[in-house]
Parts: sequence; C-alpha cells; structure tokens
Amino acid sequence: MNIILFGPPGAGKGTQSEVISQKQSIPAISTGNIIREALKSGSELGLRLKQYMSDGGLVPDEVVIDIIKERIKKSDCKNGFILDGFPRTIPQAEALDKMGIKIDKVLEINVSDDIIIERMSGRRVCETCGSSYHMQNKKPQVEGICDKCHGTLVQREDDHPDTVKNRLQIYHKQTKPLENYYSKQGKLTVINGDNKSIKETVELVLSALEA
Ligand code: ADP
Ligand code: ZN
Repeated sequence: MNIILFGPPGAGKGTQSEVISQKQSIPAISTGNIIREALKSGSELGLRLKQYMSDGGLVPDEVVIDIIKERIKKSDCKNGFILDGFPRTIPQAEALDKMGIKIDKVLEINVSDDIIIERMSGRRVCETCGSSYHMQNKKPQVEGICDKCHGTLVQREDDHPDTVKNRLQIYHKQTKPLENYYSKQGKLTVINGDNKSIKETVELVLSALEA
C-alpha cells in the first residue's frame, strides 16, 4: 500500500509513520530526515538547503521532487511505502501523479495551532540517527540520550517558537490545500490529533488504514 501522511509540524507524523512502517513492513520515507542527512554531509547543496530550513521555509519543489523520485525507485519500496512530509505543496502532489505513482490512502493528522506551539517546545531529536522524542509525551529511557543509538538529543533549530509560527503559516497556505486535492480523489481520511496521547492517535491511524 502506498500511503501519504500529512499534517502540521509537530503533529506526530514521524511516530505514526514508524508504527505503520513496522506493522506493514514498508519503509517510512521522511523528506525532512533525508534533507537533514544531506545537510550533515556539508555539500554545497546542503548549505543552500540549510538556509531555507532554518528560517522555517520550504525547500524548493524541484529539489524534494528529485529526492522522492530517486528514493521510491529503490527496491525496498516495491511493496509500498509511507511518505511523511511529502507532498507538502500542490505542485509536489501533481508531480507524484505525473510520475504515475498510485497513492492508496492519504491520512491528514489535524492538530490546532496553539497545541502545536505548546508541543514543539518539548520536542528533541537525536543528533546521530534523527529519531524524535518529546520531553513530556515521548521521553527517552535516559534523559538527553537516544534509546536507539545512544546519540545526544538536541532541539532542532527550526523548532524555535518564532520559527514554528512561521512554519504553521506556511503549512496553512501551502500544505493544507492538499486536503481538498486528495478528498476530490476520494483518498483522504482526516484524523483529529488534538488532546490525544501518541498511543490514541496511533490507534486512530491504524484503524483508518484498515477501513
Ligand atoms: P515537520 O514535519 O516537523 O515540519 P520535517 O522534518 O518534515 O518537519 O521537515 C523539516 C523541514 O524540511 C521543513 O520545514 C522544510 O524546510 C523541509 N522539507 C521537508 N519536506 C519538504 C517538502 N516536501 N517540501 C519542501 N520542504 C520540505
Ligand atoms: Zn539516535
């Protein structure tokens, strides 16, 4: 099954897509993680992308479309995949359709802006492997240390409160229109992620996939 997961920053897409990935044995592909990996390599492209990201802005469509094109060609995607954070704009969604990639389900995780702003301040990510945690809602076993690889947990530069507000504005303007795009195609399920624990949202996501 080919699945798209979208929602505002901090909606828990990373966690949701990991759970689906394990249950269905298909890879979870996060454009955010792929881009952050590219940044670490210090290439010229990486430096250019860093600028867009640290302001909370989007990376240009052509760049992420190329990233996705290359990634879904790989053999681990032959039984399906979950896209987390792609598409994020209408042109990106159109590009997927043009590539002839059939999407089965689109899940939108809806969380209101004030809850997002509150949650983002507690988010931490592993410097080494990119896994994400939350100081209240998804604590690591040892404070400040990644459960998976023992890397150090840090706050992402673009999780700073002012940057989060900027990202939310961009989300409403550029990403939210995907709701209409995929509901017209009959593929959309909206999940309310307000005031719910990660576990409750995971259950809603899994039952939406079974429906
Ligand atoms: P979140 O879901 O928490 O907003 P991501 O890790 O998905 O964060 O993405 C972080 C940043 O990477 C975005 O703010 C944006 O700059 C860039 N990015 C990721 N995916 C895309 C995309 N599909 N199109 C444009 N930019 C993207
Ligand atoms: Zn780690």
